[in-house]
Amino acid sequence: MAKRSLKSQLSLTIAMAVFVTVALISVLSNLFISEKFKDYIAQKQTQKTQEIVSSLSQQYNAKTGQWNTDFIHTIGMYALYDGYIIKVHENNGTAVWDAAFHDMTLCTQVMADISEWMQEKYPRINGEFTSRDYPLMQSGQEVGAVTISYYGPYFLSENDFQFLKALNTILISIGSVSLLFSLILGWIMARRISMPITQTANIAKEISAGNYDIRFREETRTRELEALVTSVNDLADSLKEQQNLRKILTADIAHELRTPLTTVSTHLEAMIEGIWEPTKVRLQSCHEEINRITKLVKDLESLAEVEQNNLISHKTLINLLEIVTTISNNLEMDIFNKKLDFTVLGQVPCILADKDRISQAILNLLSNAIKYTPENGHINVVLIEKKNSVELMIEDDGIGISKADQPFIFERFYRAEKSRNRKTGGAGIGLAIVESIINAHNGQIRVESELNKGSKFIIDLPKRG
Ligand code: ADP
Repeated sequence: MAKRSLKSQLSLTIAMAVFVTVALISVLSNLFISEKFKDYIAQKQTQKTQEIVSSLSQQYNAKTGQWNTDFIHTIGMYALYDGYIIKVHENNGTAVWDAAFHDMTLCTQVMADISEWMQEKYPRINGEFTSRDYPLMQSGQEVGAVTISYYGPYFLSENDFQFLKALNTILISIGSVSLLFSLILGWIMARRISMPITQTANIAKEISAGNYDIRFREETRTRELEALVTSVNDLADSLKEQQNLRKILTADIAHELRTPLTTVSTHLEAMIEGIWEPTKVRLQSCHEEINRITKLVKDLESLAEVEQNNLISHKTLINLLEIVTTISNNLEMDIFNKKLDFTVLGQVPCILADKDRISQAILNLLSNAIKYTPENGHINVVLIEKKNSVELMIEDDGIGISKADQPFIFERFYRAEKSRNRKTGGAGIGLAIVESIINAHNGQIRVESELNKGSKFIIDLPKRG
């Protein structure tokens, strides 16, 4: 299905909503105003007839029994120009003043004008001239009556009509201007929303094509869009970091393998070509180098295993003190050979964790402590139970780690003072494995160390895994 752009969809929706709203407001207000105006006109008409009736009533002189025909004439003529044709008569039916009688032509003209005008402007109301009788009262006495004919149910004068027309024009103008204004505003808004999305999509495309340096730099004023932009930028950052790490890792592995492989290769070559006697010592040296390579491959394997989908599937309730004791028993020979003073202190905290992985982490830390502590040194393991976690501390008074090296020791292949450690045979992977295991358990690890004084590795593991 053909997809429409977000901008056109948003613009269209906004335009539709605005159009419907404006149209509804216009139609409703038009209807409402027209209705109200008609009411007003009808009211005005009633008022007018009442005025005529009341002023006519006053023209009778009860004492003389005479009508003031001059005034009646004036009132009648004014009323005629306003569209009211009157006929005043006494109680016995005798005519006092009759507009039709007075000026037949004018009356017919007025009636024809009004009918024509109303038929033209308001054909739907089907109006016509109607007559109504009103009694003329004076001090509660009926002194006569007036017949008033006018165009009903109501009629609008030219002025009234012009007023209504002007009102409608204003309404239509306001509607059109606000419609146009909202369309422009809607278009700007749609553009503002869609632009960063389009750009972010393009950036994501670039990232998937391997261009990790591209970033979205413009500011957006929408919180959600800002979050989207930041996530895509972060994604690019982390992919770039991953790419760098991969490059470094490959270089490091190549470097680590090259040295022992070159040594073995040159030694074997020399022996094959008869330059060297294949003595036991030389063969042993080759064997050691091969062992080093094997250990490196094994370490890499465990690191890959730990880092792969957080391999901590078998979580059980484990006793840390028991684990530390088992590991230290396995390392007893090394501890004994170096005449190290080894103590384990603390409670018997149980935590929910993967036993094999935690054992591996503790083994790596203890092996390091033994490896980097000279003869007659001290190693202490302290276990402290906290409210929600358990702290495991492995402390030694060995060679220590300089402040400059401390931030990097958990990185793969990082070895503090590399030459110093060549002898110890480590490839700098042990601590990377430890950190991965602890992280996978939602724990934390940190180091406190001083060069030539000793190191303290502190692990904090949550009790519930
Ligand atoms: P390695 O196999 O080299 O021991 P690790 O990842 O276990 O690799 O350790 C990284 C580096 O951290 C080591 O090369 C060493 O310089 C330093 N290190 C680790 N543990 C200790 C310790 N207990 N005392 C002093 N240095 C240590």
